Amino acid sequence: MKQLVDKLEALQILEREEFKKILLCDEDYLFERARYVAQGVYGKSIFMRGLIEFTNYCKNNCYYCGLRAGNKEAQRYRLSKEQILQCCKTGYPLGFRTFVLQGGEDPHYTDEILVDIVREIKAAYSDCAVTLSIGERSYESYELLFKAGADRYLLRHETANDEHYKTLHPDTMSPTNRKKCLYDLKKIGYQVGCGFMVGTPNQTLEHIVDDLLFIKELQPQMVGIGPFIPHSDTPLKDSKAGDVHLTLNILAILRLMQPNLLLPATTALGTLDVHGRERGILAGANVVMPNLSPVEVRKKYLLYDNKICTGEEAAECVDCMRNRMKHIGYEIVVSRGDFLSHCER
Ligand code: SAH
Ligand code: SF4
Repeated sequence: MKQLVDKLEALQILEREEFKKILLCDEDYLFERARYVAQGVYGKSIFMRGLIEFTNYCKNNCYYCGLRAGNKEAQRYRLSKEQILQCCKTGYPLGFRTFVLQGGEDPHYTDEILVDIVREIKAAYSDCAVTLSIGERSYESYELLFKAGADRYLLRHETANDEHYKTLHPDTMSPTNRKKCLYDLKKIGYQVGCGFMVGTPNQTLEHIVDDLLFIKELQPQMVGIGPFIPHSDTPLKDSKAGDVHLTLNILAILRLMQPNLLLPATTALGTLDVHGRERGILAGANVVMPNLSPVEVRKKYLLYDNKICTGEEAAECVDCMRNRMKHIGYEIVVSRGDFLSHCER
């Protein structure tokens, strides 16, 4: 196994069978090397992103997600531009220099409305980055938002395997279009994040290898990886949650494959394991995304059951996160935390 880890660290591409072996491995050596590589690029600094969940309306019906249009139990809300700016105002003195606007695919937010929101945030906080995570849109729409000042875009590809994709989404959604969106975003100039859930129903190791190879091809700046967690008001309510250890192995493998990646230790990881985010950092992740949404809406943005950090004020979340990182020898820094395109190794 050591040999395979060394091969990955030497930036050589593994055979499919080798990937499968390393995905299943249970050795600290993988995490040690991933940490070493992460520290070689980003030191012991952890970048922080403020997550603003600005709408939980969604026109889509992904089978796994609590925000799906078909979930009639969800209490829907939208934040106004003023409320979103208020989140930034709260976040800036707490050290946030990236604001992530995330939401369902909500037609209420037209290009015009979003352009105005992005412009105002950038005008008021010119030293901050704005990340959008609002699903699939047209090339023109992505371009308008980029010109308005958006810097980054998160759009998890969910699964690179088209057959698997079709078992998780209705026919109205297309894996081809999702991948096209990612290439469009890259072409326009965004720092782009793809990613996938670990342990969705029917996911095999072969599928995960497909995901790793897709990531190798796309060369994104960020990759979001978290375990699948069932939501009780969705068609996948009886499926079991993803595996934490496998999620950590994937983070470590990605760190070795692409040393300069921006790799978050996700909230979903922290939901399945009280120390999930710390374990993510110790497996090579270098980003955390505390919640900056107004407390009164947090319990309504439920992608999955038992989501953590839905009761605390932003300042409490930041304090908690800072302590967690300090405890494992890392430090949250006040920085935009941009992608370093030249790996210094
Ligand atoms: N609507 C946008 C952004 C919000 S959803 C989009 O779909 O891109 C953000 C991410 O949450 C999704 O990409 C998905 O990977 C994740 N997610 C949704 N349901 C989940 C669940 N049940 N368990 C874990 N992650 C989930
Ligand atoms: Fe909507 Fe995103 Fe949830 Fe799919 S994953 S239902 S697009 S919020």
